[in-house]
Amino acid sequence: MSRMNAEYHIEMTREALASHFSERALEIIIAANVRQDAIRYQFFHDEIHYDNNAFDKGDRYINEQRGYVLATLLSPGILGAWVAFGRLLHTAQDFYAHSNYVTLWLDQFDAVPPPPPEIEPLKRELVKSPSLRSGKIYFPLDALYYFKILRPFVLKILPKDSHGWMNLDEPAQGLKFPYAIAAATKRTSYELDLLRKLLTPEMFARFTDK
Ligand SMILES: [Zn+2]
Repeated sequence: MSRMNAEYHIEMTREALASHFSERALEIIIAANVRQDAIRYQFFHDEIHYDNNAFDKGDRYINEQRGYVLATLLSPGILGAWVAFGRLLHTAQDFYAHSNYVTLWLDQFDAVPPPPPEIEPLKRELVKSPSLRSGKIYFPLDALYYFKILRPFVLKILPKDSHGWMNLDEPAQGLKFPYAIAAATKRTSYELDLLRKLLTPEMFARFTDK
């Protein structure tokens, strides 16, 4: 059970991509992104949300979706490329909300850390750090966590390594939340840049639909 409110996925995706894609492409990318948090993808899909320390599976899922983008663009199709890119972005964005990456990045600084816009989204030694963790799902407690009225009680019994304690899904999680948003927004731009390098100019133009 694991969700960053859809409004944040939408905002970050728009901020990073709006100037690069046609509106119809952007809308399909965003719809595919947000759909990943549908109830049927909430349980037993750690790879989609980087839950339960599923870093390898999450990375593999992103690579797989990138592969679909390429495969679709090698054919006359286009819709599948936008959908796959939306799925890819959901997982990439969830990485910062569900892992301790932001904490590891902030821990590098003794005194006052730089402001959120300065966070580096893919610092190698942090992505590969043996201290990298993501929230574990303790079922059904982590499901009850979503009932705000139960939350204080649920947090008392949830272990500290749970998604309930670790997530940066919303502003109420405190000062680290804007860092998660900034990192995920930068990562979204990075994923587009990566495709720009992988695709031919013709394929890239078809992809951005501009
Ligand atoms: Zn998610």
